[in-house]
Amino acid sequence: MYEQNTKKNTKIVATISDRKCDVDFLKELYLRGMNVVRINTAHQTVDDAKKVIDNVREVSEKIAVLIDTKGPEIRCTKPETPLTLKEGEHIFIGDNPEESSTEKCIHINYDGFVSQTPKGATILIDDGAFSLRVLEKKDDVLVAQVVSGGTFKDRKTIAVPGVHYDLPPLTEKDKEFIEFAAKQEVAFIAHSFVRNRADVMAVQELLDKHNSTVQIIAKIENQEGVDNIDEILECTFGIMVARGDLGVEIPGHKVPSIQKTLIRKARDHQRVVIVATQMLHTMIENPRPTRAEITDVATAIYDRADAIMLSGETAYGSYPLDSVEMMTSIAHEVEAELATRKFRIPLKEAYLIPEYLALMSMHASLHLDAKAVVVDTTFGTTPRRISAFKGSTPIFSFCYNWQTVRQLALCRGIYAAYMEPVSSSEEFVRKAMKHLQRKETLADDDRVVVIAGNFEPTHGASFIEISTVKNLRRDLAK
Ligand code: PEP
Repeated sequence: MYEQNTKKNTKIVATISDRKCDVDFLKELYLRGMNVVRINTAHQTVDDAKKVIDNVREVSEKIAVLIDTKGPEIRCTKPETPLTLKEGEHIFIGDNPEESSTEKCIHINYDGFVSQTPKGATILIDDGAFSLRVLEKKDDVLVAQVVSGGTFKDRKTIAVPGVHYDLPPLTEKDKEFIEFAAKQEVAFIAHSFVRNRADVMAVQELLDKHNSTVQIIAKIENQEGVDNIDEILECTFGIMVARGDLGVEIPGHKVPSIQKTLIRKARDHQRVVIVATQMLHTMIENPRPTRAEITDVATAIYDRADAIMLSGETAYGSYPLDSVEMMTSIAHEVEAELATRKFRIPLKEAYLIPEYLALMSMHASLHLDAKAVVVDTTFGTTPRRISAFKGSTPIFSFCYNWQTVRQLALCRGIYAAYMEPVSSSEEFVRKAMKHLQRKETLADDDRVVVIAGNFEPTHGASFIEISTVKNLRRDLAK
């Protein structure tokens, strides 16, 4: 059941491009600890994405595919000739190229940019490589002063920290990919630049049109997303702390505390959280990461994030296998230390029965030194509840459908496998123990906590049984 050579509770998301996605390569990544494949649609067509998905499915049905949309984004259009911005000089920014066209003019792909950008705003170009301050508005153009300059010749991203733009939640490309994701029945859509509940619901409505079971991950990458995190968590499977854009939209020194807050909030809502971007950035070109990168990965694991993500490191870097292996090694080290720490489970005033049993299963596993919690599930609710306590005990989850197996690939501490639906508790425990014994995951004398009941469709978890593997097998052999 430990599908990797390497057992670890923290999940690894690896970004894969169609340029490097052969089956042998993906298999090696999987064996080293990759759980989820991310396809970044900013750089792919649906045909490219299909190639990646087909190859992933050849490696294992357990690997989740996450399609990352581009989301609503403001960019400047490509200048006709390379544009040099000199510090201190004035420049025009127009959303209507005909009217505002001058030699030193930046054109924007979004019509509402001039009207919605206030005087005094800071405009960051190309992830902050260049910056301007808006001095005044004149007819259809902004007059801005160059604060930090340079030369650029391509379409560049534009960010204006703290300013809300009435951008539609989905671009045409996003819609195409969301429909594609639904048809391909991938596990996740990660939607970029989510600002509020309405942005999530736009994705959900499109998925619902296709009766899709794809789950939504909201990428939090601007102040609005941070401010509205509770309502976003309520309607998603989880969030991604997308530190690349977040660090442009919000001053970089604020990112670590926001990361910690988002991890805590996700836990409180029993949602998953992925920490993303530049985790092992230097491994794009170097076989070894910096000490600071190792510490960054370790910090996310210490904070009990569900998953950590690789971007360029696996998409086009020179050391993709070493990058995954490095993350796995860091996870081993940190998780071993975490397992020795005292751990408290937060209590609530009132519980649903399955919720209370989930709490008790984690409680029992701690106090009885159980080696595993064994759970049955249809849609993943019970294992996700247990995972959200963020304990160290592995949660072996037997799922009555394949989509759930893949979606649990993102959740901390969960090891999921498919099981044909059963009709009784006895049958479930027998089959689960057989499976665990076959995979040599547990020894005969290991204590386990079994929590199950989903074979009755309306029930959810309805009982807990605690014993050694040997006893559970013997009881059922009668
Ligand atoms: C990010 O900004 O950190 C991120 C993950 O998004 P993207 O790679 O799509 O820019």
